[in-house]
Amino acid sequence: MVRATEESGATGEQPTGLAFDRLAEAGHDEPEELVIFHDHDTGLRAVVSVHSTVLGPALGGCRFHPYPSIGAAVHDAVRLGWSMTGKAALAGLDLGGGKAVIVGDPRRIRTEALLEAFGRSIERLGGRYITAEDVGTSEADMDVIGRVTEWVVGRSAEHGGAGDPSPATAVGVFEALRATVGHTTGSDDLADMRVTVVGVGKVGRPLVEQLVAAGALVSVADVDDSAVADLVDRLGVQPVAVADALTTPSDVLAPCALGGVLNTSTIPHLRCRMVVGSANNQLGEDADAQRLADLGIVYAPDFLVNAGGLIHVADELHGYDEERVAARVRGIGTTTTRLFQEAEEYGVNPLVAAERLAQRRIDEGRAERTGRSS
Ligand code: NAD
Repeated sequence: MVRATEESGATGEQPTGLAFDRLAEAGHDEPEELVIFHDHDTGLRAVVSVHSTVLGPALGGCRFHPYPSIGAAVHDAVRLGWSMTGKAALAGLDLGGGKAVIVGDPRRIRTEALLEAFGRSIERLGGRYITAEDVGTSEADMDVIGRVTEWVVGRSAEHGGAGDPSPATAVGVFEALRATVGHTTGSDDLADMRVTVVGVGKVGRPLVEQLVAAGALVSVADVDDSAVADLVDRLGVQPVAVADALTTPSDVLAPCALGGVLNTSTIPHLRCRMVVGSANNQLGEDADAQRLADLGIVYAPDFLVNAGGLIHVADELHGYDEERVAARVRGIGTTTTRLFQEAEEYGVNPLVAAERLAQRRIDEGRAERTGRSS
């Protein structure tokens, strides 16, 4: 699978065809549509990859980054687009996946006129792509884009948006964690389970609150000392130095900060039985999923675990309904259990099982669509 890594493709020069080659190698479809927008008046240069609309409109955030070339931007949009297709399919949403990238340093070139030009470009896609917040863009940017197109989610509550998705993401992580514990130990009771949460920001903090309420023995690490001190004072959790976080003996490691934390350097030193966290792109490369499995460490794929935020923002499209969102986010736990069962049944690691599960739903959607149109 061509997963998105926050760091690599976004910064390096990449041949334009590379992302296509890797999609093909992994047996995944190319994007249905790839569009480059250029607006002379505002300096907008943007790429939109509509990866798949098989299950519904392609939803995915807009990344604003100083790519070294349009080729690098195309590469990033293409591979991030597939990630969103897989994530939406696993989350059970009737949505496809896509991604937009705006080329340039947001601190230097972000203007309302440029964002509106981007919005008009999205409008021209006629609803096949729906944009949202991502690295380099904010809720306020989505409000500006929303002045000229309806195909945007993640707006502020004042502008009809559903507000911060992080609490929903945290609930999804909690449900996935409980399901992973249930699968691994035979009981989903979290009492006295040792959980180390690395990164206690917008997602990590509410996750810790839920874990403590469920009786887990929680340790926390963060580069921000005040974030750790607050939880220690309020909830009596155990502080851990960031340098020791991955090697602290625990039942569950919950990476909720940066991507790429599970790699050939760190995996041999882990002292946990399970990994379940919100951080995007936790694996350095796909092969790390097998390295974890070989050590008997149960890894819950991040793009399933952290889908609560996507479920939250996507619901804006139907008129946000708290109950519906809560039920779908709880479903992440059920899907996690199913995924581990299939991984065992087919003798594959959980990442491969997750990709297959997502692909199966997309294939079923395609078969249904073909059936309808014939
Ligand atoms: P955040 O910025 O609010 O919190 C991240 C926390 O990690 C901060 O407290 C920061 O100080 C800490 N941190 C940074 N570097 C660290 C390090 N090296 N070691 C330990 N702590 C470190 O971000 P967030 O919204 O809570 O998101 C956390 C992760 O979850 C990110 O990878 C994000 O992409 C992913 N995610 C978030 C959402 C969401 O709804 N917010 C949805 C899906 C995925």
